[in-house]
Amino acid sequence: MNYLNLTIKEMHQALVDKKISASQLVELAIEKVQSNPCNAYEATNFEQARKQASLITEVKQDELFKGIPYVCKDNFSTKDIETTASSKVLEGYIPTFDAQVVSLLNNAGAILIAKTSLDELAMGGTGTTSHKGVTTNPYDHTRIAGGSSCGSLASVASGDVPFALGSDTGDSVRKPASHGGVYGMKPTWGRISRFGLFPFAPSLDAVGYFARSTYDIAALTNLLSGYDSKDMSSSTKEVEDYTSYLTKDIKAKRIGYIPAIIKAITNNKIVESFNKLIEKLKQEGYQVDTYEFPQDLLDALYPTYMVISCSEATSNDANLDGVKFGIKPDGSAKTWEEYMISARTRGFSSLIKRRFIIGSFSLLAENQDELFRNAQRARRLIANQMKDFFTKFDYLLLPCGRDVACKIEEASDKWSSKPNFVDNHLGIANLAGLPSLTLPLGYDSNLPYGVNITANHFQEGLIFNLGQHIEDIVGLANSTIESHKEGI
Ligand code: GLN
Repeated sequence: MNYLNLTIKEMHQALVDKKISASQLVELAIEKVQSNPCNAYEATNFEQARKQASLITEVKQDELFKGIPYVCKDNFSTKDIETTASSKVLEGYIPTFDAQVVSLLNNAGAILIAKTSLDELAMGGTGTTSHKGVTTNPYDHTRIAGGSSCGSLASVASGDVPFALGSDTGDSVRKPASHGGVYGMKPTWGRISRFGLFPFAPSLDAVGYFARSTYDIAALTNLLSGYDSKDMSSSTKEVEDYTSYLTKDIKAKRIGYIPAIIKAITNNKIVESFNKLIEKLKQEGYQVDTYEFPQDLLDALYPTYMVISCSEATSNDANLDGVKFGIKPDGSAKTWEEYMISARTRGFSSLIKRRFIIGSFSLLAENQDELFRNAQRARRLIANQMKDFFTKFDYLLLPCGRDVACKIEEASDKWSSKPNFVDNHLGIANLAGLPSLTLPLGYDSNLPYGVNITANHFQEGLIFNLGQHIEDIVGLANSTIESHKEGI
């Protein structure tokens, strides 16, 4: 029996039934983390994890997370554990407090095993730009894991732990989830406190998470959601029991998809699976129809996202100056200006510098209206289009991208003059603040690909209801690299 390949729910039952102890689980997870071949990890927390597990003598039925090992993207503050966001600029930085979500997990008894790698400062979509190099896809080490939450994906897909924290500003949880055949969730903007999550672009950022079943994702949403006085953008809206939606008979049955996106998918296997899924959903009583999203807005997704996210990042990351935390300058600096220039020049990779240039250029007084404000106008149009969509449909259902994970040498995070909307459409959920879940759909030559559901604000429950239906149809609950499954 491989206990680490269980879902949170199953692992919890094994702990309740005393088939395994929290200490044994933690040892198994540590072994797996140490031998993971994907370059998925940053700092580890082994000693503290062992200590925490040794104190657990019993797990009760209502203590779902107690004794469950997990990992956390390295852009969440973790007290006394080095946190670098996979950037040289923060090397050596040891936070003095935990992010709110880490505290919530800690209080629930979950056990943090390690921090995971990411595209530097969460800017990127490939998992190739961490200060420690490329994080590979567990299904094929010549391919990307996808980013920016590459390490968290690699960990859950490898079967090291049943769930992981990530962050999602443009698709950083939901895209890698597709490349690794697992579930990846980004809730409504404000549903979960971002206190202690390093900001990339706060108007787009969301705490996200990877797991291996709809139930586990819903249970994590229960635990992590809610108002937090330390994050004034967190919502006071009541937290529902999201797991109760999995079995509810729900009237919302209208599914829409965007034909232009399906047409632009290059991998036929993905289109075939998607069409099969639609047929099955129709047989189950769902109405599935097309929705024409204006092409100019689809083409605007990437530039709009880049201008807004880079502008916000430029401003937020101004505090990474070598003074307060992280890297120190080379010693030759004589003035404070030279000091900061030296720290920032040495601390950031070229990708980050490029994004800061895009951000600064967009925010220059003489460019602001044409770039930053126009991007905000485009964002409003995109959000309004989704408002219109939700007058006709309950769910937006789409494949996650045009293909399976690409080869490492084909991956690029450079500004593209010909952005492909089919690879950027998951960002609609960030631009409009909507909840969105990626689920596994199938495999092409043993490489996974996923399908994505997006719903209206605070309709996480609906997503999990449809998610459970899709999970039952596709049959890919709890898939890891070690469980050979088919999908549809
Ligand atoms: N791929 C997007 C980017 O490069 C998403 C990043 C994210 O969601 N953190 O910015």
